[in-house]
Amino acid sequence: MSEVQISFQDFRAPYLELKTEFDAAYHRFMTSGFLVLGEETSAFEQEYAAYCGAKHCVGVANGLDALHLALRALGVGTGDEVIVPSNTYIATWLAVTHAGATPVPVEPDPCTFNIDTSRIEEAITRRTKAILAVNLYGQPCDYSKISSIAQKHEIRFVTDNAQAHGAHYRGRRVGGIADIECHSFYPSKNLGAFGEAGAITTQDAALADTIRILRNYGSKVRYHNEVPGYNSRMDELQAAFLRVKLRHLDTWNARRRTIAEQYISLLYGLESELVLPLVPSWVNPVWHLFVIRHPQRDLLQKYLLEQGIQTIIHYPIPPHLSGAYNSFKGRDLPLAARLGNEVLSLPIGPHINPTDVPIVAEKITKYIQSSWG
Ligand SMILES: *Cc1c(COP(=O)(O)O)cnc(C)c1O
Repeated sequence: MSEVQISFQDFRAPYLELKTEFDAAYHRFMTSGFLVLGEETSAFEQEYAAYCGAKHCVGVANGLDALHLALRALGVGTGDEVIVPSNTYIATWLAVTHAGATPVPVEPDPCTFNIDTSRIEEAITRRTKAILAVNLYGQPCDYSKISSIAQKHEIRFVTDNAQAHGAHYRGRRVGGIADIECHSFYPSKNLGAFGEAGAITTQDAALADTIRILRNYGSKVRYHNEVPGYNSRMDELQAAFLRVKLRHLDTWNARRRTIAEQYISLLYGLESELVLPLVPSWVNPVWHLFVIRHPQRDLLQKYLLEQGIQTIIHYPIPPHLSGAYNSFKGRDLPLAARLGNEVLSLPIGPHINPTDVPIVAEKITKYIQSSWG
Protein backbone atom coordinates (compact mmCIF):
# COMPACT_ATOMS: atom_id res chain seq x y z
CA MET A 1 0.00 0.00 0.00
CA SER A 2 1.29 3.45 -0.85
CA GLU A 3 1.35 6.31 1.65
CA VAL A 4 -1.39 8.13 -0.31
CA GLN A 5 -4.79 7.65 1.28
CA ILE A 6 -7.62 9.23 -0.64
CA SER A 7 -11.01 7.96 0.43
CA PHE A 8 -14.17 8.28 -1.61
CA GLN A 9 -16.25 10.06 1.01
CA ASP A 10 -15.84 11.04 4.67
CA PHE A 11 -19.18 11.28 6.48
CA ARG A 12 -17.69 13.10 9.48
CA ALA A 13 -16.45 16.08 7.46
CA PRO A 14 -19.82 17.86 6.93
CA TYR A 15 -20.51 17.79 10.67
CA LEU A 16 -17.05 19.02 11.56
CA GLU A 17 -17.33 21.94 9.12
CA LEU A 18 -20.75 23.13 10.37
CA LYS A 19 -20.75 21.75 13.92
CA THR A 20 -22.17 24.90 15.54
CA GLU A 21 -25.12 25.03 13.15
CA PHE A 22 -25.92 21.31 13.43
CA ASP A 23 -25.65 21.41 17.22
CA ALA A 24 -28.04 24.38 17.32
CA ALA A 25 -30.52 22.51 15.07
CA TYR A 26 -30.31 19.45 17.33
CA HIS A 27 -30.90 21.57 20.43
CA ARG A 28 -33.86 23.33 18.83
CA PHE A 29 -35.39 19.94 17.92
CA MET A 30 -34.81 18.41 21.37
CA THR A 31 -36.44 21.32 23.16
CA SER A 32 -39.31 21.90 20.69
CA GLY A 33 -41.51 19.08 21.95
CA PHE A 34 -42.54 18.24 18.36
CA LEU A 35 -41.13 14.96 17.17
CA VAL A 36 -43.11 14.06 14.04
CA LEU A 37 -44.25 16.38 11.18
CA GLY A 38 -43.50 19.49 13.19
CA GLU A 39 -42.15 22.91 12.34
CA GLU A 40 -38.78 21.69 11.08
CA THR A 41 -40.39 19.53 8.40
CA SER A 42 -42.76 22.25 7.23
CA ALA A 43 -39.98 24.86 7.26
CA PHE A 44 -37.72 22.55 5.25
CA GLU A 45 -40.56 21.92 2.78
CA GLN A 46 -41.03 25.65 2.23
CA GLU A 47 -37.32 26.35 1.95
CA TYR A 48 -36.62 23.48 -0.43
CA ALA A 49 -39.63 24.33 -2.63
CA ALA A 50 -38.40 27.93 -2.87
CA TYR A 51 -34.88 26.72 -3.65
CA CYS A 52 -36.16 24.52 -6.50
CA GLY A 53 -38.57 27.12 -7.83
CA ALA A 54 -41.46 24.74 -7.11
CA LYS A 55 -44.75 25.74 -5.52
CA HIS A 56 -44.92 22.65 -3.30
CA CYS A 57 -42.60 20.27 -1.49
CA VAL A 58 -43.69 17.24 0.54
CA GLY A 59 -41.11 15.57 2.77
CA VAL A 60 -41.15 11.78 2.92
CA ALA A 61 -39.07 9.02 4.52
CA ASN A 62 -36.62 8.34 1.67
CA GLY A 63 -36.02 8.63 -2.07
CA LEU A 64 -37.63 5.33 -3.01
CA ASP A 65 -40.84 6.35 -1.24
CA ALA A 66 -40.77 9.73 -3.00
CA LEU A 67 -40.72 7.91 -6.34
CA HIS A 68 -43.29 5.33 -5.33
CA LEU A 69 -45.75 7.85 -3.85
CA ALA A 70 -45.32 10.15 -6.87
CA LEU A 71 -46.33 7.33 -9.20
CA ARG A 72 -49.26 6.38 -6.93
CA ALA A 73 -50.42 10.01 -6.87
CA LEU A 74 -50.43 10.01 -10.68
CA GLY A 75 -52.65 6.94 -10.59
CA VAL A 76 -50.02 4.54 -11.93
CA GLY A 77 -50.99 0.97 -11.07
CA THR A 78 -51.43 -2.61 -12.23
CA GLY A 79 -51.23 -3.09 -15.98
CA ASP A 80 -49.54 0.26 -16.59
CA GLU A 81 -46.09 0.84 -18.02
CA VAL A 82 -43.54 3.45 -17.01
CA ILE A 83 -40.49 4.33 -19.10
CA VAL A 84 -37.23 4.25 -17.13
CA PRO A 85 -33.53 4.44 -18.02
CA SER A 86 -31.81 1.06 -18.45
CA ASN A 87 -28.78 2.37 -16.51
CA THR A 88 -29.85 3.68 -13.14
CA TYR A 89 -29.80 2.78 -9.50
CA ILE A 90 -32.35 -0.01 -9.01
CA ALA A 91 -34.62 2.24 -6.87
CA THR A 92 -35.92 3.92 -10.05
CA TRP A 93 -37.24 0.58 -11.33
CA LEU A 94 -38.40 -0.65 -7.91
CA ALA A 95 -40.69 2.37 -7.49
CA VAL A 96 -42.50 1.34 -10.68
CA THR A 97 -42.68 -2.29 -9.58
CA HIS A 98 -43.99 -1.35 -6.11
CA ALA A 99 -46.73 0.74 -7.74
CA GLY A 100 -47.81 -2.48 -9.51
CA ALA A 101 -46.68 -1.30 -12.95
CA THR A 102 -44.01 -2.54 -15.37
CA PRO A 103 -40.72 -0.68 -15.95
CA VAL A 104 -39.93 -0.26 -19.66
CA PRO A 105 -36.21 0.41 -20.04
CA VAL A 106 -34.72 2.82 -22.57
CA GLU A 107 -30.99 2.92 -23.21
CA PRO A 108 -28.82 5.95 -22.35
CA ASP A 109 -26.81 8.35 -24.40
CA PRO A 110 -23.34 6.79 -23.80
CA CYS A 111 -21.68 10.21 -23.33
CA THR A 112 -24.07 12.00 -20.96
CA PHE A 113 -25.23 8.68 -19.36
CA ASN A 114 -28.80 10.10 -19.31
CA ILE A 115 -31.81 8.58 -21.06
CA ASP A 116 -31.50 8.76 -24.87
CA THR A 117 -34.49 10.92 -25.77
CA SER A 118 -34.38 9.78 -29.41
CA ARG A 119 -35.32 6.26 -28.23
CA ILE A 120 -38.20 7.11 -25.90
CA GLU A 121 -41.03 7.25 -28.43
CA GLU A 122 -40.42 3.73 -29.78
CA ALA A 123 -40.94 2.44 -26.20
CA ILE A 124 -44.34 4.11 -25.70
CA THR A 125 -47.41 1.87 -25.91
CA ARG A 126 -51.13 2.23 -25.13
CA ARG A 127 -50.27 1.22 -21.54
CA THR A 128 -47.58 3.86 -20.93
CA LYS A 129 -48.58 6.20 -18.11
CA ALA A 130 -45.38 8.10 -17.42
CA ILE A 131 -41.74 8.73 -18.27
CA LEU A 132 -39.53 8.50 -15.18
CA ALA A 133 -36.21 10.06 -16.17
CA VAL A 134 -33.14 10.25 -13.93
CA ASN A 135 -30.71 13.16 -13.51
CA LEU A 136 -27.86 10.69 -13.30
CA TYR A 137 -24.53 11.53 -11.65
CA GLY A 138 -25.74 15.11 -11.04
CA GLN A 139 -26.50 16.04 -14.66
CA PRO A 140 -30.04 17.04 -15.70
CA CYS A 141 -31.79 14.95 -18.34
CA ASP A 142 -33.16 16.74 -21.42
CA TYR A 143 -36.28 18.21 -19.77
CA SER A 144 -37.61 20.07 -22.86
CA LYS A 145 -37.41 17.06 -25.16
CA ILE A 146 -38.94 14.69 -22.61
CA SER A 147 -41.64 17.19 -21.75
CA SER A 148 -42.71 17.58 -25.36
CA ILE A 149 -42.78 13.79 -25.87
CA ALA A 150 -44.90 13.43 -22.71
CA GLN A 151 -47.31 16.15 -23.86
CA LYS A 152 -47.61 14.70 -27.35
CA HIS A 153 -48.54 11.26 -25.95
CA GLU A 154 -50.58 12.63 -23.03
CA ILE A 155 -48.49 10.91 -20.39
CA ARG A 156 -46.82 12.31 -17.28
CA PHE A 157 -43.20 13.33 -16.77
CA VAL A 158 -41.59 12.41 -13.44
CA THR A 159 -37.92 12.76 -12.50
CA ASP A 160 -35.67 10.85 -10.14
CA ASN A 161 -33.61 13.76 -8.82
CA ALA A 162 -31.77 11.81 -6.12
CA GLN A 163 -28.42 12.92 -7.53
CA ALA A 164 -28.80 16.47 -8.85
CA HIS A 165 -29.97 18.82 -6.07
CA GLY A 166 -29.22 22.34 -7.23
CA ALA A 167 -28.41 21.55 -10.88
CA HIS A 168 -29.70 23.81 -13.67
CA TYR A 169 -31.34 22.95 -16.96
CA ARG A 170 -31.35 25.85 -19.46
CA GLY A 171 -31.02 28.31 -16.58
CA ARG A 172 -33.78 26.77 -14.48
CA ARG A 173 -33.18 24.89 -11.26
CA VAL A 174 -34.23 21.24 -11.47
CA GLY A 175 -37.05 20.29 -9.08
CA GLY A 176 -39.52 22.81 -10.48
CA ILE A 177 -39.74 21.67 -14.10
CA ALA A 178 -41.33 18.20 -14.57
CA ASP A 179 -44.83 17.21 -13.30
CA ILE A 180 -43.33 15.73 -10.15
CA GLU A 181 -39.65 15.60 -9.18
CA CYS A 182 -38.44 13.12 -6.56
CA HIS A 183 -35.48 13.70 -4.27
CA SER A 184 -33.46 11.45 -1.98
CA PHE A 185 -31.50 12.92 0.92
CA TYR A 186 -29.61 9.71 1.67
CA PRO A 187 -26.33 10.69 3.42
CA SER A 188 -24.13 10.27 0.33
CA LYS A 189 -26.19 12.64 -1.85
CA ASN A 190 -25.29 16.29 -2.54
CA LEU A 191 -27.98 17.37 -0.06
CA GLY A 192 -27.60 14.49 2.38
CA ALA A 193 -29.19 13.94 5.78
CA PHE A 194 -27.58 12.16 8.75
CA GLY A 195 -29.96 9.28 8.14
CA GLU A 196 -32.85 8.68 5.76
CA ALA A 197 -35.05 11.32 4.10
CA GLY A 198 -36.65 12.21 0.78
CA ALA A 199 -39.12 14.63 -0.79
CA ILE A 200 -41.20 15.41 -3.84
CA THR A 201 -41.52 18.83 -5.46
CA THR A 202 -44.23 19.91 -7.88
CA GLN A 203 -46.12 22.95 -9.18
CA ASP A 204 -49.40 21.00 -8.86
CA ALA A 205 -51.28 21.61 -5.59
CA ALA A 206 -53.58 18.60 -6.05
CA LEU A 207 -50.67 16.19 -6.56
CA ALA A 208 -48.84 17.60 -3.53
CA ASP A 209 -51.99 17.21 -1.47
CA THR A 210 -52.44 13.58 -2.54
CA ILE A 211 -48.84 12.79 -1.56
CA ARG A 212 -49.31 14.54 1.80
CA ILE A 213 -52.24 12.19 2.42
CA LEU A 214 -50.45 9.08 1.14
CA ARG A 215 -47.38 9.64 3.34
CA ASN A 216 -49.50 9.84 6.49
CA TYR A 217 -51.68 6.70 6.51
CA GLY A 218 -54.06 8.16 3.94
CA SER A 219 -55.29 10.83 6.33
CA LYS A 220 -55.33 14.61 6.36
CA VAL A 221 -57.28 14.81 9.61
CA ARG A 222 -56.09 12.38 12.27
CA TYR A 223 -58.04 9.09 12.33
CA HIS A 224 -59.95 10.00 9.16
CA ASN A 225 -58.30 7.64 6.71
CA GLU A 226 -59.56 8.48 3.24
CA VAL A 227 -57.36 6.06 1.28
CA PRO A 228 -55.14 3.10 2.21
CA GLY A 229 -51.96 5.15 2.63
CA TYR A 230 -48.45 4.53 3.93
CA ASN A 231 -46.25 5.65 6.78
CA SER A 232 -43.59 7.66 4.99
CA ARG A 233 -43.21 10.85 6.98
CA MET A 234 -40.02 12.89 6.83
CA ASP A 235 -38.07 12.55 10.07
CA GLU A 236 -38.28 15.81 12.00
CA LEU A 237 -34.65 15.77 13.18
CA GLN A 238 -33.39 15.07 9.66
CA ALA A 239 -35.47 18.03 8.44
CA ALA A 240 -33.70 20.25 10.99
CA PHE A 241 -30.29 19.04 9.77
CA LEU A 242 -31.27 19.38 6.11
CA ARG A 243 -32.24 23.04 6.66
CA VAL A 244 -28.65 23.68 7.76
CA LYS A 245 -27.20 21.85 4.78
CA LEU A 246 -29.53 23.53 2.28
CA ARG A 247 -28.03 26.91 3.21
CA HIS A 248 -24.61 25.60 2.14
CA LEU A 249 -25.63 23.47 -0.84
CA ASP A 250 -24.63 25.96 -3.54
CA THR A 251 -21.22 26.52 -1.94
CA TRP A 252 -20.64 22.79 -1.61
CA ASN A 253 -21.80 22.13 -5.17
CA ALA A 254 -19.35 24.81 -6.35
CA ARG A 255 -16.52 22.89 -4.67
CA ARG A 256 -17.58 19.77 -6.56
CA ARG A 257 -17.58 21.77 -9.80
CA THR A 258 -14.00 22.95 -9.18
CA ILE A 259 -12.86 19.36 -8.67
CA ALA A 260 -14.67 18.18 -11.82
CA GLU A 261 -13.04 20.94 -13.86
CA GLN A 262 -9.65 19.94 -12.44
CA TYR A 263 -10.18 16.29 -13.42
CA ILE A 264 -11.34 17.25 -16.91
CA SER A 265 -8.36 19.46 -17.63
CA LEU A 266 -5.86 16.99 -16.15
CA LEU A 267 -7.28 13.91 -17.91
CA TYR A 268 -8.14 15.58 -21.20
CA GLY A 269 -5.10 14.20 -23.02
CA LEU A 270 -6.08 10.60 -22.32
CA GLU A 271 -9.33 10.69 -24.21
CA SER A 272 -8.26 8.02 -26.69
CA GLU A 273 -8.24 5.52 -23.77
CA LEU A 274 -10.63 7.05 -21.32
CA VAL A 275 -14.14 8.42 -21.78
CA LEU A 276 -14.66 11.59 -19.75
CA PRO A 277 -18.13 12.86 -18.80
CA LEU A 278 -19.72 15.05 -21.46
CA VAL A 279 -21.56 18.18 -20.34
CA PRO A 280 -23.97 19.64 -22.91
CA SER A 281 -23.89 23.45 -23.04
CA TRP A 282 -27.48 23.72 -21.79
CA VAL A 283 -26.94 22.06 -18.40
CA ASN A 284 -25.10 23.05 -15.27
CA PRO A 285 -24.50 19.76 -13.44
CA VAL A 286 -23.73 19.42 -9.72
CA TRP A 287 -21.28 16.53 -10.03
CA HIS A 288 -22.80 14.09 -7.57
CA LEU A 289 -20.31 11.66 -9.11
CA PHE A 290 -17.40 12.04 -11.50
CA VAL A 291 -17.69 8.97 -13.70
CA ILE A 292 -15.14 7.93 -16.30
CA ARG A 293 -15.23 4.91 -18.60
CA HIS A 294 -12.35 2.58 -19.30
CA PRO A 295 -12.44 -0.79 -21.12
CA GLN A 296 -10.22 -2.40 -18.42
CA ARG A 297 -12.05 -0.76 -15.57
CA ASP A 298 -11.44 -3.53 -13.01
CA LEU A 299 -7.66 -3.44 -13.55
CA LEU A 300 -7.61 0.35 -13.32
CA GLN A 301 -9.62 0.26 -10.10
CA LYS A 302 -7.29 -2.34 -8.60
CA TYR A 303 -4.23 -0.28 -9.56
CA LEU A 304 -5.67 2.88 -8.00
CA LEU A 305 -6.49 1.04 -4.78
CA GLU A 306 -2.90 -0.22 -4.60
CA GLN A 307 -1.90 3.44 -4.87
CA GLY A 308 -4.16 4.29 -1.92
CA ILE A 309 -7.02 5.77 -3.98
CA GLN A 310 -10.55 4.55 -3.30
CA THR A 311 -13.01 4.50 -6.21
CA ILE A 312 -16.56 3.11 -6.48
CA ILE A 313 -18.62 1.65 -9.33
CA HIS A 314 -22.04 3.19 -9.98
CA TYR A 315 -23.41 0.69 -10.86
CA PRO A 316 -21.83 -2.70 -11.64
CA ILE A 317 -25.09 -4.58 -12.30
CA PRO A 318 -27.87 -2.83 -14.24
CA PRO A 319 -31.40 -3.54 -12.94
CA HIS A 320 -32.27 -5.92 -15.81
CA LEU A 321 -29.33 -8.18 -14.92
CA SER A 322 -30.04 -8.19 -11.19
CA GLY A 323 -31.78 -11.00 -9.32
CA ALA A 324 -34.74 -8.72 -8.61
CA TYR A 325 -35.59 -8.60 -12.34
CA ASN A 326 -35.06 -12.19 -13.48
CA SER A 327 -37.82 -11.84 -16.07
CA PHE A 328 -35.75 -9.12 -17.83
CA LYS A 329 -32.56 -11.23 -18.09
CA GLY A 330 -32.88 -11.98 -21.81
CA ARG A 331 -33.53 -8.34 -22.65
CA ASP A 332 -31.09 -6.81 -25.11
CA LEU A 333 -29.81 -3.69 -23.35
CA PRO A 334 -26.16 -3.71 -24.44
CA LEU A 335 -25.33 -0.16 -23.40
CA ALA A 336 -26.50 -0.59 -19.82
CA ALA A 337 -24.55 -3.87 -19.60
CA ARG A 338 -21.44 -2.28 -21.10
CA LEU A 339 -21.54 0.73 -18.79
CA GLY A 340 -21.77 -1.66 -15.86
CA ASN A 341 -18.41 -3.09 -16.95
CA GLU A 342 -16.69 0.19 -17.80
CA VAL A 343 -17.75 2.98 -15.41
CA LEU A 344 -15.61 4.13 -12.52
CA SER A 345 -16.40 6.93 -10.06
CA LEU A 346 -13.42 9.01 -8.94
CA PRO A 347 -13.34 10.74 -5.54
CA ILE A 348 -15.35 13.99 -5.68
CA GLY A 349 -17.21 15.98 -3.06
CA PRO A 350 -17.16 19.16 -0.98
CA HIS A 351 -14.71 17.60 1.44
CA ILE A 352 -12.24 16.07 -0.99
CA ASN A 353 -8.95 17.90 -0.62
CA PRO A 354 -8.36 19.76 -3.93
CA THR A 355 -4.66 18.92 -3.68
CA ASP A 356 -5.60 15.22 -3.92
CA VAL A 357 -7.12 15.67 -7.38
CA PRO A 358 -3.79 16.05 -9.27
CA ILE A 359 -2.54 12.94 -7.44
CA VAL A 360 -5.51 10.87 -8.65
CA ALA A 361 -5.11 12.25 -12.19
CA GLU A 362 -1.38 11.53 -12.15
CA LYS A 363 -1.90 7.89 -11.10
CA ILE A 364 -4.50 7.36 -13.83
CA THR A 365 -2.17 8.94 -16.39
CA LYS A 366 0.69 6.71 -15.26
CA TYR A 367 -1.46 3.60 -15.50
CA ILE A 368 -2.63 4.40 -19.00
CA GLN A 369 0.79 5.42 -20.26
CA SER A 370 2.28 2.17 -18.93
CA SER A 371 -0.27 0.26 -21.03
CA TRP A 372 1.09 2.11 -24.09
CA GLY A 373 4.40 0.38 -23.31
C1 LIG B 1 -30.12 7.19 -3.90
C2 LIG B 1 -30.99 6.99 -5.07
C3 LIG B 1 -32.34 6.61 -4.94
C4 LIG B 1 -32.94 6.12 -3.67
O1 LIG B 1 -32.93 6.97 -2.60
P1 LIG B 1 -33.09 6.37 -1.11
O2 LIG B 1 -33.24 7.61 -0.31
O3 LIG B 1 -31.90 5.57 -0.80
O4 LIG B 1 -34.35 5.56 -1.09
C5 LIG B 1 -33.11 6.55 -6.08
N1 LIG B 1 -32.59 6.82 -7.30
C6 LIG B 1 -31.31 7.16 -7.48
C7 LIG B 1 -30.82 7.45 -8.85
C8 LIG B 1 -30.46 7.25 -6.37
O5 LIG B 1 -29.17 7.58 -6.56
